[in-house]
Amino acid sequence: MADSKRKIADCRLYPSEKNCSLTISGTEEEVLTAAVQHAVTSHGHKESPELREQIRGFLKDEK
Ligand SMILES: [Zn+2]
Repeated sequence: MADSKRKIADCRLYPSEKNCSLTISGTEEEVLTAAVQHAVTSHGHKESPELREQIRGFLKDEK
């Protein structure tokens, strides 16, 4: 059940012009979906498969 492990997307680790401290946690798919939406709505990124993969690279395992 490795898939049940939760991931964290920490906006402080994401290169950003904003001083954003949001963290999102959940399953990898949940975090990715929420983080992509957040990147688009709050940071003005364009939604794309590349953005999704870039964000995937920033995910950390929840301790
Ligand atoms: Zn943010």
